[in-house]
Amino acid sequence: MTPSLSIPPLTKDLARVLIDADTISRRVDELAQKINHDYKDITEPLMLVGVLKGSFIFLADLCRRLTVPHVVDFIAISSYGQKGDKRGEVRMLMDTRENLSDHHVLIVEDILDSGNTLSYLIKTFKARNTKSVSTAVFLDKPARHEVPVEIEYMGFEIPDVWVVGYGLDYKEQYRTLPYIAEMYPKK
Ligand code: 5GP
Ligand code: MG
Repeated sequence: MTPSLSIPPLTKDLARVLIDADTISRRVDELAQKINHDYKDITEPLMLVGVLKGSFIFLADLCRRLTVPHVVDFIAISSYGQKGDKRGEVRMLMDTRENLSDHHVLIVEDILDSGNTLSYLIKTFKARNTKSVSTAVFLDKPARHEVPVEIEYMGFEIPDVWVVGYGLDYKEQYRTLPYIAEMYPKK
């Protein structure tokens, strides 16, 4: 029996629910259907590469709806919030375990903000003799783009606010909320 998920209430940091769990689930269904269609003719498993940590819930929901053969791997990158990193600077902290060459790769990411992370990853993976590199991104903040990035599978556009839940955090908190919530701006 599947345990029923209770919906945690908003805490004092969270202003409102931006995208509820049912809406998320329907959109992930649609994205998975599109991926199943687009990769129906591949001859080897699609390589899903999740960007830790923010993508882990989106990736888990997406991959369980895939009917095309696939394998799952992860990478970790430094983000500009981390000590010593300049804005726009992206570094690989942990690479995939699998060799990506000769595979169709689908990068799975939580959110497109400036675009620096994804443009770095797409360039890096294309240089590895991959058959193709595409991207599934759960959220997009168009107002914040600095670098153009082409996204094949996009979940939702959101305004320029800090969001948490469904994998996304604020200081490591709130990742496991089943909805996307907007935080009150920090003073
Ligand atoms: P980029 O600026 O390289 O496109 O995105 C960098 C990273 O910033 C994203 O992968 C994500 O981890 C983080 N990020 C950007 N906006 C938000 C947000 O509203 N909430 C959370 N939790 N993370 C964000
Ligand atoms: Mg991220």
